[in-house]
Order: sequence, then structure tokens, then C-alpha cells
Amino acid sequence: MKFGGTSVATPQRLRAVAARLIARHDAGDEVVAVVSAMGKVTDDLLALAHEINPEPPEREQDMLLATGEQVSIALLAMAVQAAGADAISFTGPQVGIVTDAVHSKAKIVAIDAACVGEALAAGQIVIVAGFQGRTTDGEITTLGRGGSDTTAVALAAGIAADVCEIYTDVDGVYTADPRIVPAAQKIDVISYEPMLEMAASGAGVLSMRSVEFARNHAVTIHCRSSFTDTTGTIVKEAQPDMEDAIVSAVTHDRGEAKITIRGVPDRVGIAARVFSTLADANVNVDMIIQNISEEKKTDISFTAPQTDLHRVTQALDACMAEIGAREWVIDDDIAKVSIVGAGMKTHAGVTAKMFQTLADAGVNIDLISTSPIRLSCIIAADQMDDAVRALHTAFGLDATDVIEEATPC
Ligand code: ASP
Ligand code: MG
Repeated sequence: MKFGGTSVATPQRLRAVAARLIARHDAGDEVVAVVSAMGKVTDDLLALAHEINPEPPEREQDMLLATGEQVSIALLAMAVQAAGADAISFTGPQVGIVTDAVHSKAKIVAIDAACVGEALAAGQIVIVAGFQGRTTDGEITTLGRGGSDTTAVALAAGIAADVCEIYTDVDGVYTADPRIVPAAQKIDVISYEPMLEMAASGAGVLSMRSVEFARNHAVTIHCRSSFTDTTGTIVKEAQPDMEDAIVSAVTHDRGEAKITIRGVPDRVGIAARVFSTLADANVNVDMIIQNISEEKKTDISFTAPQTDLHRVTQALDACMAEIGAREWVIDDDIAKVSIVGAGMKTHAGVTAKMFQTLADAGVNIDLISTSPIRLSCIIAADQMDDAVRALHTAFGLDATDVIEEATPC
């Protein structure tokens, strides 16, 4: 059972989480909880770090951020104990979450959950700090923002849990962000692939890495509300009898920027040079567009998270002279809107319908990228909400509509 920052933000909410854990334990289940830092603690710690040092060294930043989760686990264990049940808290390093050494976005490479098994066998409720691990050298690492989901799924895989319940402030995964689309609906069941595409394209409810981990280890996720008892969204392996919606959801992402390198010589190895420099700087490049060249010069555009921009800048500065490009420019007033659906694979006309819908809404498309089950367009940021609403309606996702099922063509 994983609880995010909002669910553990106050002593009162910590007590409510403790009560949930105890109820589940009393019902005869073995319970492992994973928690995030309280409320906005991670943001506050980050702000504090930047006040001290505009570019905090990542090792020390991990050291600092990992304290957020350590506060919640200790308090939650105390809350369980105060309510008369037995609990024990562990940090990520203590439960043997071993990661690579990439500070601030470390990846889990192994889990030795032996101490979790022992505590469960002793009848204790086990409470584990999300978002953190240690390298084989014993250095403390963090898994990237939202990383507690990944901890929960990884731990669920590590102890072969029946289900990984992710409690959050919404009651499941929706067909679009209900704050933008009031007619958005909760999705009851979805398989890993479309969920992964949704997470990758901006659906904030589950982190992409946690879904990826769940898929790779066949962990069933139940994403549900920490304020109610209603069933949320089940994410699991595709079943033969599961109907594939053509479009399951419309997602959006305001967190990316577009970088355009102009006047790039059209020569063998140039793209490789640019993107390996970016990869070495740990920049998560998303879309890439290269136009056909005119007089042996071309433009390359790509998108990357705004939070990676300082690394993008450094990386490009480092290789501009060598590749002989003219200049680079950044536009962060953009948004990405995407439609996702497993049924798209077997259904013609989805692309045309998306473009026509955007055209009818007066939205100009800047960049386009596709996967077999996702179509994404970069548009102007101020048109994002309108575009999401128009697509949600056009693809029959509005609450009063009946969702069409895919028919193979
Ligand atoms: N506390 C971390 C964050 O805010 C991890 C998490 O919440 O999952 O990003
Ligand atoms: Mg958080």
C-alpha cells in the first residue's frame, strides 16, 4: 500500500493511513506500506538547497531529499503503534533497495527484501521509505520525482505481493485530467502498454518508471483514492477478453521545452554526436525531428523536460563548435497533447481525425510524434486546454458518450 505526500501531509492524515493499514492487517493480510515525504516537503527541501547553492551537488541533494521520506516512515510507524498495532519502519537502504549511482534519478538494480519478510513473519506492519535506495558503495540515492511509486512496485515484485495498491488524491486513472475536462471518466481496467504511454505523455497519476517496472515484473497495480473506499483503476497484463478502446485517454504535458539547433551540417555522425552528448548529460530527450536539408544544412528540433534545460544548455555548448552548427534556440511556451489507445494499432483514420480536430479548434501543430498506440502533437501552451477538451469529445470519451470499441480493419 503506497501513500503519496498528500495522504501523509498532517498528523491527522497519518493517523488515517495508520487506521487503513491496521484494518487491512486485521483482515488477515500481510501489509507493507511505502510512503512519500509529507505534503510539499520534497519541494521545500529542494528550494532550501537552491537557496544555499544555486546548483546543489547531486550527492548532497540526495542526502537532503531522502530525509523527507524518513520523517514520514517514523511518524507512520509511531501512529500505528499508538493505535495499538505492531509496526516497524525501514529506509530504502535498510530494505536493500540497491540502485545505480546516478544521483537524483537512480534506477533500482536489485532488491534484497529479507528484512521485510522477517518483519512480516513476525506479524508486523512494515513501513518503507519511498523514493530512495543505496548504491553498492553505500551511497544514498533518490529515484527521481514521484519515485515512491517505483519503490512500491519494486518492493511488491521483490516480495511477490498479490497487488500493489497506490493510494493517491484522485480515485483512479482518468480519460483526461478532470481539472481540464469535467466530462473525463475513470478507467476501470487498463493494460500496461497504454498506461505506460499515458504516463510517458503526461498523465501524472502513476509514474512511468513504476508502470514500466510493473510490466516487466507482472505486478498488478490498483490505483485508488486514499480518501474513499471505492475501487480505482486496475493496471494489469492485457487479457484476451479485454476490449481495446481505440482511444483510452487524452493526456497533456506542460513540462517540456523545444530546442532547435539551426544550420547543422548534413553529415554522417552529426546526430549521433549531438544525442550522445545529451545522453551523457543524462537528458531525457523525447521527440526528435530533423528536416530534409537545403544546401547541406539542416535543422534538428527535439523536446526535453524543462527541468533538464541547464544540462541541455551545457551539453550543446560543449559540442556546437565541433559539429559546426549555426545556433540553438529554446522555446518553453509549448505543450504536448497526446491520444493513447491500444486499439489504434488496428484502426485506420485516427491520425487524420486528431489533426482535423485540432484544425477545427484552430490549433496549429508544431511537432508530431507517434508510437503504435500513441499520437502526440506539440502545440502552443495557451491552446492546450482547448485542444485536450476538443480531442476528448471527438474521440467519444466524454462521460455521457458510449465509448466505441476497436474493430480490426
Ligand atoms: N517525495 C518524492 C517527490 O515528491 C517522491 C514521491 O513523492 O514519490 O517527488
Ligand atoms: Mg511527493
